[in-house]
Amino acid sequence: MTRKKPITIKFGKLGKHKADGLAYVEKRKIVIDMRLSGVELLETILHEIAHVQQPDLSEEAVLEYSKETAEILWKIGYHLTDSRVLPRNKQNENRIER
Ligand SMILES: [Zn+2]
Repeated sequence: MTRKKPITIKFGKLGKHKADGLAYVEKRKIVIDMRLSGVELLETILHEIAHVQQPDLSEEAVLEYSKETAEILWKIGYHLTDSRVLPRNKQNENRIER
């Protein structure tokens, strides 16, 4: 598998899109609603990453993957402890590249 460019994550308010997250497959970019927290935040991040990585997967398959994986990770202790990744203010509106 060739290495693709890193997926970038942005946080913003997505109320008008009626979505918790958005995935831009070609740009390899995801946008996550900054008001999410806890396991919902984790699930949404996994969900949008899955859409970018596997654009042919059905919404149902992505939902099942992200929900189950988030619950497992949450249960074994993967919680966000460094809130600096979330843009509580403009200064922290960084792109995270993994
Ligand atoms: Zn989806």
